[in-house]
Amino acid sequence: MERFYIFVLMANQDDKFKKVISHAKEYGYVFQSSEIYDGLSAVYDYAQNGVELKKNIRDYWWRAMVQMHDNIVGLDASIFMHPTTWKASGHVDAFNDPLIDNKDSKKRYRADVLIEDYCAKIENKIDKEVAKAAKRFGEAFDKAEFVSTNPRVVGYQEKIDSILQRMGKSLEKEDLADVKALIEELEIADPLTGSKNWTEVKQFNLMFGTKLGASAEHAMDLYLRPETAQGIFVNFLNVQKSGRMKIPFGIAQTGKAFRNEIVARQFIFRMREFEQMEMQFFIKPGTQKTWFEYWKDARMKWHKSLGLGEENYRFHDHEKLAHYADAATDIEFKFPFGFKELEGIHSRTDFDLKQHEEFSGKKLQYFDHEENTSYTPYVLETSIGLDRMFLAVFSNALQEEELENNTTRTVLKLPAVLAPFKAAVLPLVKKDGLPEVAQQIVDELKWDFNIAYDEKDAVGRRYRRQDANGTPLCITVDHDTLNDNSVTIRYRDTMEQKRVKIEDLRDIIKQEVDVKTWLKKM
Ligand code: ATP
Repeated sequence: MERFYIFVLMANQDDKFKKVISHAKEYGYVFQSSEIYDGLSAVYDYAQNGVELKKNIRDYWWRAMVQMHDNIVGLDASIFMHPTTWKASGHVDAFNDPLIDNKDSKKRYRADVLIEDYCAKIENKIDKEVAKAAKRFGEAFDKAEFVSTNPRVVGYQEKIDSILQRMGKSLEKEDLADVKALIEELEIADPLTGSKNWTEVKQFNLMFGTKLGASAEHAMDLYLRPETAQGIFVNFLNVQKSGRMKIPFGIAQTGKAFRNEIVARQFIFRMREFEQMEMQFFIKPGTQKTWFEYWKDARMKWHKSLGLGEENYRFHDHEKLAHYADAATDIEFKFPFGFKELEGIHSRTDFDLKQHEEFSGKKLQYFDHEENTSYTPYVLETSIGLDRMFLAVFSNALQEEELENNTTRTVLKLPAVLAPFKAAVLPLVKKDGLPEVAQQIVDELKWDFNIAYDEKDAVGRRYRRQDANGTPLCITVDHDTLNDNSVTIRYRDTMEQKRVKIEDLRDIIKQEVDVKTWLKKM
């Protein structure tokens, strides 16, 4: 039995990220869209394993948000919406990114991302100082005290804060000349060529347009929705009335959204077609602060229940609030390229419902029977990108380990509740009736779980394949099975092996993968 191993850190962040992308392809998780035509930039397809992982993440979210809350219901609104929706929501006028071109390289960047990346570099310096000090002081090291008192670290942090604050203010005031001035003052160069020869900063609308109608003259201009939220707002009263919902209540939805992203380099982190999981929670005006805190806490607990490492999450409060928000924070995750937004939590006030009232001329108010008054509810939103969550889970899970016998293994330590296959059944050899018994086990277990069957190659190689595929359990049928009705079960993460009865398999697997067990960690 192979046991005891130590972690091999992958060489650097770039390397790790490249491995994530190639592993996703090699093991049937994510492919470039239309690859045979050289692909379409920032558009991806989920393959046989990817589609299962994605579905399991979506289900995990849906169970936590809809099934576990008796005041949250689901919705599946269309991607196409009446074009006035996007006038009312502010997307036609204000869904812009500030872009800047480099005159020498002709490459286009998001001005805010260039500045944020500059700050991330300063943050790396802070991390290095902290690591050095932690080594120097050993057990006595108090990180919080160090970062608040060490003059060098304090200086770095002040610099980051002042840059981000200035950028936030300038963007809010639409002072794009100052955003450019900031880029020049910081001497930010084109990351690809080092050139500092920049154009002015301009706004660029991210919505994709399309047309509805049979003839060109009568066609109606439509947009592909850039977020799922508006489908919820325009249905607010339909759901409230038909479901006899009482405030506070929520409407949850998962579905595709489309954005013509300027910078689309980071694999499925930033796509032009992606999926969101959003929940709009309708509340009484004045209670938004309490609900903001409630949902911050609830969403962070959901993330942490998956066990990807507490240190990999942090909140980032927005410097620049969107036109509709009175408070906003991001849950950031440590992706292979650093901490980045994974989920947004926004206190959206009554902005959206009021706008839709104004543009549609229809009342979107709630009648409060207890207080005998009508009002426009306030909204608390939680919005997470399913693809970003997929990348968080997948990149965190991919590890290379050195084993005791000087070999290495690639293992995808996906949370068992999310893994595409819960177990693989492997006959030790392809003869003596073992495949038939293995197949019977598969036939029985597949009523409850997604089960793989694999009989090709030596069993050690099959274990490796399942490790790399993320399958949490392997069940091996050998010659003894024919006499004692027992099999060997092998755990992916510890490589521990145990002999168990076939009749106990269902319960053993359930214990590992049951949604209830995982969600109860919240
Ligand atoms: P960013 O600042 O990274 O562009 P955002 O603040 O515009 O994101 P939101 O409008 O708040 O994002 O959307 C909510 C969530 O949808 C984000 O937290 C993210 O997980 C996801 N998301 C947004 N844009 C994309 C995209 N282009 N590709 C994949 N996921 C996305």
